[in-house]
Amino acid sequence: MYDYLVVGSGLYGAVFAREMENAGKRCLVLEKRDHIGGNIYTEEVDGIHVHKYGAHIFHTSNEEVWKYINKYAEFNNYINSPVAVYGDELYNLPFNMNTFSKLWGIRTPAEAKAKIAEQIADLHITDPQNLEEQALSLVGRDVYEKLIKGYTEKQWGRDCKDLPAFIIKRLPLRFTYNNNYFNDVYQGIPKGGYTQIIEKLLENVDVMTETDFFEYRREHDNFKKIVFTGMIDEYFDYRLGHLEYRTVRFETERVEDASYQGNAVVNYTAKEVPYTRIIEHKHFEPELEAEKPKDYTIISREYSTEWKPGIEPYYPVNDEKNSKLYEAYRELAEKEENVIFGGRLGQYKYYDMDKVIDAALAAARKELGK
Ligand code: FAD
Repeated sequence: MYDYLVVGSGLYGAVFAREMENAGKRCLVLEKRDHIGGNIYTEEVDGIHVHKYGAHIFHTSNEEVWKYINKYAEFNNYINSPVAVYGDELYNLPFNMNTFSKLWGIRTPAEAKAKIAEQIADLHITDPQNLEEQALSLVGRDVYEKLIKGYTEKQWGRDCKDLPAFIIKRLPLRFTYNNNYFNDVYQGIPKGGYTQIIEKLLENVDVMTETDFFEYRREHDNFKKIVFTGMIDEYFDYRLGHLEYRTVRFETERVEDASYQGNAVVNYTAKEVPYTRIIEHKHFEPELEAEKPKDYTIISREYSTEWKPGIEPYYPVNDEKNSKLYEAYRELAEKEENVIFGGRLGQYKYYDMDKVIDAALAAARKELGK
């Protein structure tokens, strides 16, 4: 008899299982895919760690979480500094003095602030009615047209004028020449990829891959409690309706060139280019390249697409309709005895990795009465 049946071998399930096993509880982890790791899974292809379900950069200001994850992998000093391509122009991200200098040929923060204020004032938008007006009223015409409009429309599959203003609450503008995308204290990529983290977390834990929980449950009752990190609406057999997602399709290819784009992350902000980003995986681990340069590389083009049942769900849609529906499922979940709903699908929430670890540690502590 297992103390816990953990559904899903992603970061949430793996951290929870590790903590419970360390405390002497027995866990069985079920994973419907043919590999462990959930969405942080990286696959080694010709010596390059390919982020199979989207580029993952670890960043946190939570010292406890940083120390925790460092027990399971050594991190490099990768700093995420994406660039944006618009036509034949190239800009640094996040929006900072390098971006503004390239846009307007200016040098000082005062000049950049004056330029943005002038563009915003010219538009006379007092009560933004949609995402376009909201963005324009925050950053002015140039940044919006070149760096936000096309990218956002591709992400959502809709015109910015037809998207609600609340999607964009703030657009951080940085008036220094700092291209570090994140503001967190700690940042990096695990040397050797992410999969090893999950492997180590699940050491000596019973794991069954290619096993769907719903099928397993029909024939087994060898567990006392369930930790469910799959889709909450699926758990309840969609009885209140389907929650919606946005998803991403990846086209991955090997290119016979030492470097395709010179950077791990390049955003394509023009509407005419069908993909949103190209990820070049080898640049996440420059130390490997320094040690043994390769004359080939692996890239993934990311296409933002509409989600349909059966396709991999990625981003929850936090609009009113879906938030209400999730709330109704959450109420059902609260009444479900001996089941903990966790992780990004179990809680229908966009969660960065550090937040998932934090949440799984908290759930384990609660179970152990700490
Ligand atoms: P998952 O990793 O999704 O794990 C859930 C697991 O449950 C899956 O393996 C699934 O197959 C399994 N499962 C589901 N249903 C069943 C079932 N019925 N039976 C058996 N198994 C089941 N975070 C960052 O901090 N930095 C980033 O740069 C970053 N980039 C991201 C990019 C993308 C495209 C996406 C979508 C997310 C990104 N994240 C990033 C977030 C990160 O992926 C999540 O925080 C993390 O993967 C969530 O872990 P999880 O365990 O909750 O879910």
